[in-house]
Amino acid sequence: MPLNRRNFVKLAGLTAVGLATGNPSKVLGQDPKIDLAPDKEPLVASRWAMVIDLRKCREHPDCTDCAAACNKVHNIPQFDNRKDEIKWIWKEPFEHVFEEQDYDYLEEKVKKAPVLVLCNHCDNPPCVRVCPTQATWKRESDGIVMMDWHRCIGCRYCVVACPYGARSFNWRDPRPFIKEIQEDFPTRMRGVVEKCIFCDERLAKGQIPACVEACKNGAMTFGDLEDSESEVRRLLAENYAIRRKPSLGTLPQIYYIV
Ligand code: SF4
Repeated sequence: MPLNRRNFVKLAGLTAVGLATGNPSKVLGQDPKIDLAPDKEPLVASRWAMVIDLRKCREHPDCTDCAAACNKVHNIPQFDNRKDEIKWIWKEPFEHVFEEQDYDYLEEKVKKAPVLVLCNHCDNPPCVRVCPTQATWKRESDGIVMMDWHRCIGCRYCVVACPYGARSFNWRDPRPFIKEIQEDFPTRMRGVVEKCIFCDERLAKGQIPACVEACKNGAMTFGDLEDSESEVRRLLAENYAIRRKPSLGTLPQIYYIV
Protein backbone atom coordinates (compact mmCIF):
# COMPACT_ATOMS: atom_id res chain seq x y z
CA MET A 1 0.00 0.00 0.00
CA PRO A 2 1.48 3.36 -0.92
CA LEU A 3 2.32 5.60 1.99
CA ASN A 4 0.06 8.52 1.25
CA ARG A 5 -0.39 11.44 3.57
CA ARG A 6 -3.14 9.92 5.65
CA ASN A 7 -1.32 6.64 6.09
CA PHE A 8 1.83 8.46 6.98
CA VAL A 9 0.13 10.43 9.68
CA LYS A 10 -1.18 7.21 11.16
CA LEU A 11 2.32 5.84 10.99
CA ALA A 12 3.79 8.89 12.67
CA GLY A 13 1.21 8.70 15.41
CA LEU A 14 2.01 5.08 15.98
CA THR A 15 5.63 6.03 16.19
CA ALA A 16 4.73 8.02 19.25
CA VAL A 17 3.35 4.97 20.98
CA GLY A 18 5.75 2.32 19.96
CA LEU A 19 7.60 2.48 16.68
CA ALA A 20 10.82 3.25 18.44
CA THR A 21 10.46 0.43 20.89
CA GLY A 22 12.65 -1.54 18.53
CA ASN A 23 9.71 -3.60 17.33
CA PRO A 24 7.49 -1.42 15.18
CA SER A 25 5.62 -4.40 13.77
CA LYS A 26 4.28 -5.02 17.24
CA VAL A 27 2.37 -1.77 17.04
CA LEU A 28 1.75 -1.64 13.32
CA GLY A 29 0.54 -5.20 13.31
CA GLN A 30 -2.50 -4.07 15.29
CA ASP A 31 -3.72 -2.19 12.24
CA PRO A 32 -3.91 -4.49 9.23
CA LYS A 33 -4.43 -1.50 6.95
CA ILE A 34 -0.83 -0.39 7.44
CA ASP A 35 2.04 -2.50 6.23
CA LEU A 36 5.76 -2.21 6.79
CA ALA A 37 6.89 -2.35 3.19
CA PRO A 38 9.61 0.21 2.58
CA ASP A 39 8.26 3.14 0.64
CA LYS A 40 10.40 5.84 -0.88
CA GLU A 41 7.62 8.26 -1.71
CA PRO A 42 8.24 11.66 -0.14
CA LEU A 43 6.17 12.43 2.91
CA VAL A 44 4.11 15.53 2.32
CA ALA A 45 1.79 17.69 4.39
CA SER A 46 0.08 21.05 4.20
CA ARG A 47 1.49 22.10 7.58
CA TRP A 48 4.03 20.01 9.42
CA ALA A 49 3.97 20.33 13.18
CA MET A 50 5.17 18.47 16.24
CA VAL A 51 3.55 17.65 19.55
CA ILE A 52 5.88 16.92 22.46
CA ASP A 53 4.33 15.16 25.43
CA LEU A 54 6.39 16.36 28.39
CA ARG A 55 4.60 13.93 30.69
CA LYS A 56 6.35 11.11 28.86
CA CYS A 57 9.67 12.97 28.73
CA ARG A 58 9.55 13.44 32.49
CA GLU A 59 9.32 9.70 33.01
CA HIS A 60 12.76 9.35 31.39
CA PRO A 61 14.77 12.35 32.59
CA ASP A 62 18.13 11.04 31.39
CA CYS A 63 17.02 10.08 27.91
CA THR A 64 18.85 11.91 25.11
CA ASP A 65 18.01 9.55 22.26
CA CYS A 66 16.32 12.24 20.15
CA ALA A 67 19.27 14.62 20.32
CA ALA A 68 21.77 11.82 19.72
CA ALA A 69 19.91 10.72 16.59
CA CYS A 70 19.67 14.28 15.31
CA ASN A 71 23.35 14.95 15.98
CA LYS A 72 24.36 11.82 14.15
CA VAL A 73 22.30 12.16 10.97
CA HIS A 74 23.00 15.88 10.60
CA ASN A 75 26.75 15.88 11.19
CA ILE A 76 26.47 18.13 14.21
CA PRO A 77 29.85 18.73 15.86
CA GLN A 78 30.42 18.13 19.56
CA PHE A 79 32.46 20.85 21.24
CA ASP A 80 33.46 20.83 24.87
CA ASN A 81 32.51 24.46 25.50
CA ARG A 82 29.16 26.24 25.34
CA LYS A 83 30.36 29.15 23.23
CA ASP A 84 30.99 26.99 20.19
CA GLU A 85 28.05 24.66 20.75
CA ILE A 86 25.84 23.75 17.77
CA LYS A 87 22.34 22.68 18.80
CA TRP A 88 19.38 21.51 16.76
CA ILE A 89 17.43 19.82 19.56
CA TRP A 90 18.30 20.01 23.24
CA LYS A 91 16.89 20.45 26.75
CA GLU A 92 16.43 23.67 28.71
CA PRO A 93 15.03 24.50 32.16
CA PHE A 94 11.24 24.95 32.25
CA GLU A 95 11.46 28.58 33.35
CA HIS A 96 13.58 29.46 30.31
CA VAL A 97 11.32 27.69 27.86
CA PHE A 98 8.00 28.81 29.28
CA GLU A 99 8.83 32.05 31.02
CA GLU A 100 5.34 33.43 30.30
CA GLN A 101 3.68 30.36 31.80
CA ASP A 102 5.97 30.03 34.83
CA TYR A 103 4.57 30.88 38.27
CA ASP A 104 5.57 30.23 41.86
CA TYR A 105 3.05 27.52 42.63
CA LEU A 106 3.55 25.41 39.55
CA GLU A 107 3.80 21.73 40.35
CA GLU A 108 7.40 20.95 41.31
CA LYS A 109 7.76 17.96 39.02
CA VAL A 110 6.75 20.13 36.06
CA LYS A 111 8.94 23.02 37.04
CA LYS A 112 12.05 20.99 37.71
CA ALA A 113 12.06 18.81 34.59
CA PRO A 114 14.04 20.14 31.63
CA VAL A 115 12.11 20.72 28.42
CA LEU A 116 13.01 19.53 24.94
CA VAL A 117 13.44 22.46 22.52
CA LEU A 118 14.15 22.92 18.84
CA CYS A 119 13.30 25.40 16.10
CA ASN A 120 9.57 26.08 16.34
CA HIS A 121 9.06 26.41 12.59
CA CYS A 122 7.04 29.49 13.36
CA ASP A 123 4.15 30.48 11.16
CA ASN A 124 5.31 34.07 11.47
CA PRO A 125 9.10 33.67 11.72
CA PRO A 126 11.09 36.80 12.59
CA CYS A 127 14.32 35.07 11.54
CA VAL A 128 13.08 34.93 7.95
CA ARG A 129 12.14 38.59 7.88
CA VAL A 130 15.64 39.77 8.79
CA CYS A 131 17.72 37.52 6.52
CA PRO A 132 19.27 39.73 3.82
CA THR A 133 20.09 36.86 1.43
CA GLN A 134 17.01 34.63 1.77
CA ALA A 135 19.26 31.93 3.15
CA THR A 136 16.35 31.06 5.43
CA TRP A 137 12.73 31.03 4.35
CA LYS A 138 9.39 29.54 5.23
CA ARG A 139 8.42 26.90 2.70
CA GLU A 140 4.91 27.74 1.62
CA SER A 141 3.99 24.17 0.70
CA ASP A 142 4.37 22.74 4.23
CA GLY A 143 5.50 25.52 6.58
CA ILE A 144 9.02 24.25 7.28
CA VAL A 145 11.47 27.09 8.00
CA MET A 146 14.30 26.06 5.72
CA MET A 147 18.03 26.88 5.55
CA ASP A 148 20.41 27.17 2.61
CA TRP A 149 23.88 27.17 4.10
CA HIS A 150 25.42 28.17 0.77
CA ARG A 151 23.51 31.44 0.82
CA CYS A 152 24.26 32.26 4.45
CA ILE A 153 26.74 35.12 4.78
CA GLY A 154 27.05 34.77 8.56
CA CYS A 155 25.55 38.14 9.46
CA ARG A 156 23.71 36.47 12.38
CA TYR A 157 20.67 38.75 12.10
CA CYS A 158 18.52 35.60 12.33
CA VAL A 159 20.29 34.50 15.52
CA VAL A 160 19.37 37.81 17.12
CA ALA A 161 15.85 37.83 15.70
CA CYS A 162 14.92 34.35 16.92
CA PRO A 163 13.35 34.75 20.36
CA TYR A 164 13.90 31.09 21.16
CA GLY A 165 17.68 30.73 20.75
CA ALA A 166 17.02 28.10 18.10
CA ARG A 167 19.89 29.08 15.84
CA SER A 168 23.58 28.28 16.25
CA PHE A 169 26.53 29.97 14.60
CA ASN A 170 29.62 28.08 13.51
CA TRP A 171 32.39 30.07 15.15
CA ARG A 172 34.88 27.36 14.18
CA ASP A 173 35.26 24.82 11.40
CA PRO A 174 32.91 22.11 12.68
CA ARG A 175 34.26 19.23 10.61
CA PRO A 176 37.07 18.06 12.91
CA PHE A 177 34.52 17.84 15.74
CA ILE A 178 32.00 15.56 14.04
CA LYS A 179 32.18 12.11 15.60
CA GLU A 180 31.32 10.12 12.49
CA ILE A 181 30.62 11.97 9.25
CA GLN A 182 27.47 10.87 7.41
CA GLU A 183 28.17 11.15 3.72
CA ASP A 184 24.52 11.64 2.76
CA PHE A 185 24.16 14.93 4.64
CA PRO A 186 26.25 18.06 4.08
CA THR A 187 28.74 19.31 6.63
CA ARG A 188 28.79 23.02 7.27
CA MET A 189 31.65 25.47 7.45
CA ARG A 190 32.88 28.19 9.74
CA GLY A 191 30.80 31.38 9.53
CA VAL A 192 27.34 29.99 8.80
CA VAL A 193 24.19 29.67 10.90
CA GLU A 194 22.27 26.42 11.27
CA LYS A 195 19.20 24.96 12.97
CA CYS A 196 16.63 22.16 12.82
CA ILE A 197 14.97 21.78 9.41
CA PHE A 198 12.33 19.21 10.50
CA CYS A 199 14.45 16.59 8.69
CA ASP A 200 13.42 17.90 5.31
CA GLU A 201 16.02 15.58 3.75
CA ARG A 202 14.43 12.53 5.39
CA LEU A 203 10.86 13.54 4.52
CA ALA A 204 11.97 13.68 0.89
CA LYS A 205 13.04 10.04 1.21
CA GLY A 206 9.84 8.93 2.90
CA GLN A 207 11.30 8.93 6.41
CA ILE A 208 9.97 10.62 9.53
CA PRO A 209 12.27 13.01 11.46
CA ALA A 210 15.18 11.25 13.13
CA CYS A 211 14.30 12.52 16.60
CA VAL A 212 10.75 11.19 16.36
CA GLU A 213 11.97 7.85 15.10
CA ALA A 214 14.53 7.62 17.91
CA CYS A 215 12.11 8.45 20.73
CA LYS A 216 11.32 5.09 22.23
CA ASN A 217 9.10 6.68 24.86
CA GLY A 218 6.46 7.96 22.47
CA ALA A 219 6.93 11.56 23.56
CA MET A 220 7.23 13.06 20.08
CA THR A 221 4.56 13.04 17.38
CA PHE A 222 5.00 14.60 13.96
CA GLY A 223 2.23 15.15 11.47
CA ASP A 224 0.02 17.37 9.39
CA LEU A 225 -1.96 20.01 11.26
CA GLU A 226 -4.20 20.55 8.27
CA ASP A 227 -5.32 16.94 8.29
CA SER A 228 -8.20 16.62 10.72
CA GLU A 229 -7.52 12.88 11.07
CA SER A 230 -3.82 13.21 11.88
CA GLU A 231 -2.38 12.08 15.18
CA VAL A 232 -1.12 15.58 15.96
CA ARG A 233 -4.67 16.88 15.58
CA ARG A 234 -6.01 14.12 17.81
CA LEU A 235 -3.46 14.91 20.51
CA LEU A 236 -4.25 18.61 20.37
CA ALA A 237 -7.98 17.95 20.48
CA GLU A 238 -7.71 15.66 23.50
CA ASN A 239 -5.04 17.49 25.52
CA TYR A 240 -4.35 21.06 26.52
CA ALA A 241 -1.09 22.05 24.84
CA ILE A 242 0.96 25.23 25.09
CA ARG A 243 3.43 27.01 22.82
CA ARG A 244 6.47 29.09 23.65
CA LYS A 245 6.18 32.85 24.16
CA PRO A 246 2.67 33.20 22.72
CA SER A 247 2.65 36.97 23.31
CA LEU A 248 5.22 37.49 20.54
CA GLY A 249 2.89 36.44 17.76
CA THR A 250 5.46 34.17 16.09
CA LEU A 251 2.98 31.26 16.16
CA PRO A 252 5.32 28.34 16.93
CA GLN A 253 4.37 24.96 15.50
CA ILE A 254 5.87 22.90 18.30
CA TYR A 255 3.10 22.13 20.80
CA TYR A 256 3.78 20.94 24.34
CA ILE A 257 1.50 18.81 26.45
CA VAL A 258 2.66 19.78 29.91
FE1 SF4 B 1 12.93 31.20 13.20
FE2 SF4 B 1 13.48 30.88 15.80
FE3 SF4 B 1 10.92 30.57 14.93
FE4 SF4 B 1 12.83 28.73 14.29
S1 SF4 B 1 12.07 29.25 16.36
S2 SF4 B 1 11.32 29.68 12.89
S3 SF4 B 1 14.66 30.03 14.10
S4 SF4 B 1 12.14 32.47 14.91
